[in-house]
Amino acid sequence: MDDKVQVIEMGEEFRICPACGYKDGFHSMFKRTEAATKWLFICPSCHRIFDIGFTV
Ligand SMILES: [Zn+2]
Repeated sequence: MDDKVQVIEMGEEFRICPACGYKDGFHSMFKRTEAATKWLFICPSCHRIFDIGFTV
């Protein structure tokens, strides 16, 4: 499992994994940083982590 977070820009929707093409959406996780709590998305298929700029 690659723990590196990939920062990507969200288009109209964020449903298809840009890494492996999995089409059924993502798991969520949260990560606290100094500035904010980030809302990250994990692909259930390839387990890559994506940051689309959401914070909580
Ligand atoms: Zn994937």
